[in-house]
Amino acid sequence: MLSVKQALSKDQVGKIVQVRGWIYRTRSSGGIVFAVLRDVSGIIQTTVKKGAVSEKDFDDAQKAGIESSVMIEGEVAEDKRAPGGYEIRATKFQVYGFSDGFPITEYQSTELLLDLRHLWIRSREQTAVAKVKASLLRGAREWFHDNEYVEVTPPIITGVAAEESTTLFQVKYFDRIAYLSQSAQFYLESLIYSLDKVYSLTPSFRAEKSRTPRHLAEYWHLEMEAAWLENEDNMKVQEQLITSMLHNAVKECPEELTFMKRDPATLKKIEPPFERMNYQEAMETLQKKGLDVSWGSDLGAIEERALTQDRLVPMFVVNYPKELKPFYMKENPEDTRTYKNSDLLAPEGYGEIVGGSERETDNELMLERLRDKGESIENYKWYLDLRKYGSVPHSGFGLGLERIVTWVCKLDHIRDSIPYPRTVARVYP
Ligand code: ATP
Ligand code: MG
Repeated sequence: MLSVKQALSKDQVGKIVQVRGWIYRTRSSGGIVFAVLRDVSGIIQTTVKKGAVSEKDFDDAQKAGIESSVMIEGEVAEDKRAPGGYEIRATKFQVYGFSDGFPITEYQSTELLLDLRHLWIRSREQTAVAKVKASLLRGAREWFHDNEYVEVTPPIITGVAAEESTTLFQVKYFDRIAYLSQSAQFYLESLIYSLDKVYSLTPSFRAEKSRTPRHLAEYWHLEMEAAWLENEDNMKVQEQLITSMLHNAVKECPEELTFMKRDPATLKKIEPPFERMNYQEAMETLQKKGLDVSWGSDLGAIEERALTQDRLVPMFVVNYPKELKPFYMKENPEDTRTYKNSDLLAPEGYGEIVGGSERETDNELMLERLRDKGESIENYKWYLDLRKYGSVPHSGFGLGLERIVTWVCKLDHIRDSIPYPRTVARVYP
């Protein structure tokens, strides 16, 4: 048994091969069925001629609709008109499972494709995206492994909210209320005291009520935390990690990237260091572009797009005003209105992909900020303990995996970066 990709080769010409997969497209004319077969590796044309296969096989080939699962045996021949340049001239056509009236045809509404997501994930787009995603992830894991980070498994059900309480999902937890995690950060922070450098990949949950093309209610969050790390080195970790992810995707998935209209060469060129732009400077740049922003304005999709749409390499925006960011970030001694933090923006207008900071180590400062925000101190008692017993300078960040995939695969909407997107409007299938 060969994969489709293996069969599509000059070396196979004249040989009898077997391939199996699903019918991607089929038509018959006269005594010939042209069935294009797909498997994980690609598509290949097969021709099933009356007389060249048994009568039953020919009948089955005529009956087998799109998405029927089949095994085809035949001779590989060069054919310039066929996708990939080769075809298989069948001598056997064996059906595993017929598929009748597959409900997805060429032009379908986005809504229908979401209703039929369990079938749409078989599409070539979704297949390419899934492979690129896995490849990015493998690149990340390799980088972490090579740099002696320990992968850890923080909880998903939590008692406290690390980010905004307005986007928390509540769950009934026995006879009390708990929350689905928005970030593993606090737990990762607690683990650096023994493991030094840690990372985790977990789903994060955000009840994002506004419908934007870059927010999911459930996304995969790659987070890291390291002891003894200050903010500049935290950014170095991000640029190295992302470069490693991108280069791995280029190495493993050049065809999938090209299929998604992403030229692998643009990713290959991305290397550290990435530009660091001060928040203040970002404001001035935006004002020059005619946007109505001033000190204290948050960077939303529009602002992030304006800053990055002409770039091909990610850039950091650093040192945000404190009022825009959470209480646990470290004050910037060079400008105490700001934190030692960074948001990493994808190029080409795709927006924020990573948020990171050095963490505050002074409990008094954090208590003051929590009180100002009207938060219950009791909830953070365990977190504040971490600073009481052998506190060390440390930093970390959170990377939204689907945000990177959206950029790398040039997707219009983040929902296509995940097999089963969860949004305000959809939890089915
Ligand atoms: P945004 O301003 O875009 O809502 P955020 O400031 O809420 O992002 P963080 O809390 O810093 O984001 O989360 C870390 C990373 O997780 C972000 O940089 C982004 O890549 C990703 N992320 C955040 N929220 C979502 C979401 N709803 N869907 C997908 N990815 C997300
Ligand atoms: Mg948010």
